[in-house]
Amino acid sequence: MDRANVLVIVCLAVVVLLFTLHPQTLEEFNPLKTSPQDRRILVIYTGGTIGMKHTSAGYKPVKGYFEKQLREILNLHADISGKLSPYDVIEYDPLIDSSNMTPKEWNKMIRTVQKHYDAYDGFIIVHGTDTMAYSASALSFALKGLGKPVVLTGSQIPLSRVRNDGINNLLCSLRYVSLYNVPEVVIVFGNAILRGNRAVKISSNRIDAFGSPNFRSIGGFGYAPDVLLDTSLIEGSQGAYAYTGGLEVTEYDEDVKVLTHMLAPGAANTAFLSGATPDRFLDIDPSIRGVIIRTFGIGDAPSRDPGFAKTLSLLKEKNITVLNISQCIEGRVDQGDYATGSFLKSKGVVSGQDLTYEAGYCKLLFLLSLYKGNIQSVKDDLRTNLCGELSDKLTLVDVMNPGI
Ligand code: ASP
Repeated sequence: MDRANVLVIVCLAVVVLLFTLHPQTLEEFNPLKTSPQDRRILVIYTGGTIGMKHTSAGYKPVKGYFEKQLREILNLHADISGKLSPYDVIEYDPLIDSSNMTPKEWNKMIRTVQKHYDAYDGFIIVHGTDTMAYSASALSFALKGLGKPVVLTGSQIPLSRVRNDGINNLLCSLRYVSLYNVPEVVIVFGNAILRGNRAVKISSNRIDAFGSPNFRSIGGFGYAPDVLLDTSLIEGSQGAYAYTGGLEVTEYDEDVKVLTHMLAPGAANTAFLSGATPDRFLDIDPSIRGVIIRTFGIGDAPSRDPGFAKTLSLLKEKNITVLNISQCIEGRVDQGDYATGSFLKSKGVVSGQDLTYEAGYCKLLFLLSLYKGNIQSVKDDLRTNLCGELSDKLTLVDVMNPGI
């Protein structure tokens, strides 16, 4: 065989391999071509505005109300409900405003998905919007090897008000899970399908409340009744979290805490870290095993503040992992760009790259839960893309086509 033939065969093999590894068509996300009627969805209602009613103290979730509303909506819209998979509803007790979510509630959701994983083809977690991006990130790390869709949704305006966005968000979520087996945790909201660990709540008022500043939307809904997906963005069977090995669940260690510290020029919150000694710092809360510093711009911090520098050294000595996440909502951290950034690197601070604050917080907590005292593994995995939460380089899309 001459060299040209060998080259052609190698090229063909590479193309075939790429296609096998990276699903390109929608059909690959429903390989058995099951019709919606052959699939079954579990809807998990945790609380949030969508099922709230007005009380004298403001909006609160009401027992039983969400499920009744969902049934009525689908009865009213028989044309759509005929195209959806049958579903069951689990309602949590207590129902909570998502501002009260903690890793304890994340663990409850993780256990619910794990318990019902074999019995259902997909999961819709109905959740308050305030911390939805945190829960979506938390679940994405905890559900390693996920082979089924997990959607988080909710609404800005409760179903109890005529002009609400809950009906559309529920119908979009149900249709998406009825049709496709995209093995990712996503947020379906305001006609967009966003990767959960890239999403950010960007508006307290807008109906399209979520953005995905560093990663394009996976899909969306328009005038056409069906889902539009950009399959090239779906991680599928690739990477550290490939779904080929079955679901492998890790719960969050509820005794571990991460301190988050927002820098501001000359502000007292800088002095909080500056004034701390390792013992005083650990006295505050001995469960703190990680710190996130919300830095300026591309990941810079006040390198001329001796107290701040000393505190970073002490954190390093105490084996507390420090993660650098910028205050900029879009873009990536580069600790090598300015001296005010390389100063952090020299103190062992890990660059958050293009992680959102929400994903960075959950990832740090997750790795501290997983690796306990093995700080090197925590740091190594913080830098590694586990399930689509970070990209290792800046692309043209990042600078030209922000998702917000
Ligand atoms: N405070 C509510 C919650 O997060 C807001 C909402 O659901 O939109 O539970």
